[in-house]
Amino acid sequence: MNGKVVMDCVEAAYASVKEHAAEITLLDQQIGDGDHIFNLIRGLEALRGMRGEIEAEDLGRALKLAANKLLTTEGGSSGPLFSSLLMGMSRTAEQVNGDSRGFARMYAAGVEAVQQRGKTGKGSKTMMDVLIPVAERWSELAERESTTAEILKELPEEAARGMLATRDMVAIKGRASFLGDRSRGHIDPGARSSQIIITAVCEQIGRSYMAMRSTQ
Ligand code: ADP
Ligand code: MG
Repeated sequence: MNGKVVMDCVEAAYASVKEHAAEITLLDQQIGDGDHIFNLIRGLEALRGMRGEIEAEDLGRALKLAANKLLTTEGGSSGPLFSSLLMGMSRTAEQVNGDSRGFARMYAAGVEAVQQRGKTGKGSKTMMDVLIPVAERWSELAERESTTAEILKELPEEAARGMLATRDMVAIKGRASFLGDRSRGHIDPGARSSQIIITAVCEQIGRSYMAMRSTQ
């Protein structure tokens, strides 16, 4: 895992976010102010613009560079939150060692950083309803010594469950909380974009992993 893999994941996330742009826009128009997709695309395009710099780094530094870039470009509530995710991951990247427990811990540290910044956990109808269950599931699967293929299949499923669960929640954090009870019945845009990104990243890692195995 290095800066090259980070950029491959950014490209995969970007392609999938673009593909779902209209849908994400609609979700943020329903319970937010409609800018989530623009914020996200601005952030991802800024990362794409520094491909060379990110690719030249090891995993920890690549994530840190990306985190700093998102913080200064994405904007909205989601910019600082996604930036915290990458920053939290970058701080623990050195301890990864290539094993699945290490990756699970790295991601969990990222989610912990988001939680500290956004000051909320599960059940507030935000991206945390996707990020946290995925962290919990990943650590469970890693403890059970599940295979990489199993982990890459299970995490997107967990993300989808978390995203769908936001539909019936009443928002108590972020812009959607201004709507109170009227926020119920709509999927949270940040939960949907997080789920889309997690799925795209898992698919990308799956492709890189398979390519690596076939050349061994
Ligand atoms: P804004 O709401 O400022 O316009 P965005 O549209 O970029 O920002 O992002 C909205 C998303 O941010 C929401 O759908 C929600 O998932 C997420 N969000 C907002 N506040 C928080 C928070 N305190 N903790 C976690 N996620 C949050
Ligand atoms: Mg918004």
